[in-house]
Amino acid sequence: MDSTSFYAHILGLTPPWCVSNVDLDTSLGEVRIQVIHGSETSLPCPNCGSACSIHDHAPTRTWRHLDTCQLKTMLVCSIPRVSCPEHGVQQVSVPWAEAKSRFTLLFEAFAIDLMLCCARRRAAEILGTSEDCLAGIARRAVQRGLERKALSRQEDATPTMPHLSIDEKYWHRRQCATVVGDAKRGVVEEMVEGNTTASAKAALEGLGEEILARVVSVSMDLHGPFEKAAKDVLDETRIVFDPFHVVKLANEAMEQVRREEVAIHQRLDDPKGATFLKKARYSLLTAASRQKEWAQQKVAFISEWFANTAEAYRLKETLRLYRQCTNEREARDHLQHWIAMAKTSKLAPMRTLAKTVEGHLEGIVRVFSLGVTNAAAESLNARIQAVRVKCRGHRHFQAFRDSVLFHLGGLDLYPRNPHSTVPVSW
Ligand SMILES: [Zn+2]
Repeated sequence: MDSTSFYAHILGLTPPWCVSNVDLDTSLGEVRIQVIHGSETSLPCPNCGSACSIHDHAPTRTWRHLDTCQLKTMLVCSIPRVSCPEHGVQQVSVPWAEAKSRFTLLFEAFAIDLMLCCARRRAAEILGTSEDCLAGIARRAVQRGLERKALSRQEDATPTMPHLSIDEKYWHRRQCATVVGDAKRGVVEEMVEGNTTASAKAALEGLGEEILARVVSVSMDLHGPFEKAAKDVLDETRIVFDPFHVVKLANEAMEQVRREEVAIHQRLDDPKGATFLKKARYSLLTAASRQKEWAQQKVAFISEWFANTAEAYRLKETLRLYRQCTNEREARDHLQHWIAMAKTSKLAPMRTLAKTVEGHLEGIVRVFSLGVTNAAAESLNARIQAVRVKCRGHRHFQAFRDSVLFHLGGLDLYPRNPHSTVPVSW
């Protein structure tokens, strides 16, 4: 087998495409493969597929391909342009790359897999290319995935009934993004800059009316703007305040009480007591059922010597128990009992929490009738954070959105050969 047939074989080229020449440049460590079309005088129009006569050839271009034998491999071709009676002069589509891409399909597929596994900087080192080039590949992959997703939604024969989650996420210093995810599938559906009612509304409306009509539930924190946006877009009976955020609020209220009590002990010139309470933060935030023995001992000591924190801790743990209820009625009874108890507390943060829970009671207990679990939403939040760490932060919102959708969007990212139904696989 000569080198031209060898490369035509490994590139999977079929007529009319063939390799005319293979150049080896050892000084650059590069192999340049010249690809031409055969003696055909007509080729299919890229828009309608009808055979059209060749008009001329576009200027010569190169595409980066996967390395062969440690050598950078470039495809070189002057793509023919056909004259279609309906669409005018058009450049034909080639089987090795997407239009306007400087990389072959196989290179892009490999780069996508590499970026899914490791940081972009490391992927650039392995591939011998720049981070900017890989950012372009990732951006096109996300765009491709979103277009396919929109198309599959239109053709969806067995429509899904999504349980959505809507949450805010800090992406750069104090800048927030609104993230809409599919709570059951654990994928990010939509992402919009800001955490206001308008951004939450834009994120929900971005899903399209068909999806919104089928939404079973949308779970969120007790943050006013998200609730208002969801009420504007969906009806109230589908809004759920998930247990993760209810417990988070209780933890925040308890933390406020603990910090105030630390300050009291500092004022009373009791540095030992203040330090002990300061260091007990983690033990108090851990659920009683998950505490280690040493944490249980700390909490027992606090119960005896720090009255305010002890009361806040008891109220927090009692509130948490509603998660163990088995139905809506049981949960409502438990929470009403808790609200009555917390309202009589001498601790202002706990009384405020009681009012917040009372105001959102129906949305909180709806979690049982709509069958919502917040495990997926919680893990999604942690996975978005992992993407932020992996990408070492983002300067622009669009870059953050692309990174999150690339890793967590559940998208079909890979390029496809327009002339074949076989998926591109390196
Ligand atoms: Zn045409």
